[in-house]
Amino acid sequence: MIPREARSHQPPGDHTARGTVRGVGDEKPDLAELEPAELAAVVTALGAKPFHAKQIYRWLHRRGREQFGGMTDLSRSFRTRLEEACTITTPAVTSRERSSDGTQKFLFTLGDGRTIESVFIPDTPALTFCVSTQVGCAMRCGFCLTGQMGLARHLTAGEIAGQVRVLARELELQDTRFNIVLMGMGEPLHNYDATMKALRMLAAPEGLALTPKRVTLSTVGLLPAMARLSEEPWIPNLAVSLHATTDRVRHELIPTSRHLRLSDLITACRRFPLKHRDRITFEYVLLDGVNDTSADATRLAGLLRGLRAKVNLLPLNEAPGIPFSRPSDQQVDRFARSLARGGITVSVRKSRGRDIRAACGQLIVDGGPRGASAPDVLRGL
Ligand code: SF4
Repeated sequence: MIPREARSHQPPGDHTARGTVRGVGDEKPDLAELEPAELAAVVTALGAKPFHAKQIYRWLHRRGREQFGGMTDLSRSFRTRLEEACTITTPAVTSRERSSDGTQKFLFTLGDGRTIESVFIPDTPALTFCVSTQVGCAMRCGFCLTGQMGLARHLTAGEIAGQVRVLARELELQDTRFNIVLMGMGEPLHNYDATMKALRMLAAPEGLALTPKRVTLSTVGLLPAMARLSEEPWIPNLAVSLHATTDRVRHELIPTSRHLRLSDLITACRRFPLKHRDRITFEYVLLDGVNDTSADATRLAGLLRGLRAKVNLLPLNEAPGIPFSRPSDQQVDRFARSLARGGITVSVRKSRGRDIRAACGQLIVDGGPRGASAPDVLRGL
């Protein structure tokens, strides 16, 4: 008998996405959705020894092997049994585009036919995978194409971890150190359970053994979820999308933040647990004439004073449909210097993959349905 929880494609506690992925109604457990202990329960329910779960986990997550037939250290009869009783769902690479700067954008098709994008950035300075956590996004940031899609659905843990597994395999980086940023499509903390389960799966020693230092989670600042995150045993680096220095401007740029005061967000950041030498990254999209004045720079330095923080300035990646402009390089430089004079560690992010629409805020899948409205999905966060 396969344990009931192992049959679900959706992590326990997350009901939003249920019913949208391939295999619903299919009684076969999807091994790509399971943490090591859950996989061990499935393997023992099939009458095999628990150590076979480690072998399967290694094949799947470290070697990217998704066919039971290729798991050659398992007996032939057990592989046949697995074929009959289990399944492995994998995001399929539908297209792969290369930018002139080396960035690559992958379009994945999921089991239910929906599509998401992930990006490989070869030198930031480390190798970095930028991964999605939702199809679309409910936050509707005014400068982001993904936000214009609305939320179609959450990704499952297996779909989040699956992007990493497939990227590592396609790029032949399975034996190389790389970083992961949860900055693709979606707000990771809005899909909390699946995101954290995916991180546990990626951190498992039998798999890719990712350490928290190599993962950065970006959020617009969902306070209850940030408080939950601060209690986790495995806490990734935190990046907070700030983008404004007054509540009025922030509420305009991130409509779903209307219930949140900047002062409360900064207080939550001050409480967030940081290990020795760690800092919170504050992301700040620079929009010409909106949030790039010298008064903004002064206010930003004041807001972050005393915090272990660094600011990442992102001059807007302009795109059709985005009603803002990119400031001049001189203005970006002035803003950065002003912050530095205010004692803030600051960097200006070089835009990567703009020619293939892989840069920050440019991820959008064609024909994506307009999903649930932000107030609907944010209720109860
Ligand atoms: S910037 Fe991030 S949080 Fe905002 S709409 Fe885009 S994907 Fe969502």
